Amino acid sequence: MTTLAGKTALVTGASRGIGRATAIALAKAGAQVIVHYGSSQKEADAVVNDIIATGGRAQKVGADLSRPDGPHDLAKHVRGIVGDRLDILVANAGVSKAASIEELTVEDFDQLFAVNVRAPYFLVQQLLPTMCKGGTIIFTSSLVARAVAGTLSAYAATKGAVDTLVKHFAAALGERGIRVNAVAPGVVDTDMSNFTKTEAGREGALSMQALKRLATPEDIAGVIAFLACDDARWITGDTIRVDGGSKL
Ligand code: NAD
Repeated sequence: MTTLAGKTALVTGASRGIGRATAIALAKAGAQVIVHYGSSQKEADAVVNDIIATGGRAQKVGADLSRPDGPHDLAKHVRGIVGDRLDILVANAGVSKAASIEELTVEDFDQLFAVNVRAPYFLVQQLLPTMCKGGTIIFTSSLVARAVAGTLSAYAATKGAVDTLVKHFAAALGERGIRVNAVAPGVVDTDMSNFTKTEAGREGALSMQALKRLATPEDIAGVIAFLACDDARWITGDTIRVDGGSKL
């Protein structure tokens, strides 16, 4: 599959989980991929090496997206690599926090919104000058933006904000030929969902899904890669559920 040959892509939070699988899927489809990481430089190196070993092109870039200037730093590095042409931006990096209304602190709340909402917003702002006609932006939303699961109210609110940005950005950028969408995974087997490592946690996840297995990062990455390619050229402003039929 070389549907993305000649394209450049940035995937944030690509050192592990859904971001890692997405970077690999985009590279397999022919894109040159910038593998962003927060602090896990070694893991990012491993992703880059995996891509290069299979004939792909990749570079890593580090930036802490919880800092107000994190997206600006990242965008500067990305421009240094791709020049004036970024085709695909996958804003995937995120943090979650399970806490009751009583337990959640102001610091937790600010961290969640900084990484999950502020960073993608300003990353889009900073990278827009390098995105041209046919470009595409893909956010990572979540099942919990539309349905209640666990004690995730503040995290869920960040993903609700992401879904709102998708619509507003898609409307604002359509004239430039840039599409904006999100995927909304349910429970995916990554570090973020380590509750699935227990039998009870796994059972809890499966009980709300139509399909009775845990999602892998690759299940989500395939849909992101589809949204990035020309077959998805008429999809914009949408959040695509990729959740094995969760909370139907
Ligand atoms: P993960 O914890 O494995 O990966 C998160 C990534 O974000 C990591 O690469 C991490 O380094 C990066 N990141 C976190 N904080 C950062 C910071 N301050 N600066 C830079 N990078 C930072 O989790 P995942 O499951 O792969 O999550 C990827 C995305 O999918 C997230 O946006 C998450 O909210 C969303 N999501 C996950 C699930 C799930 O069940 N795992 C479900 C729905 C949505």
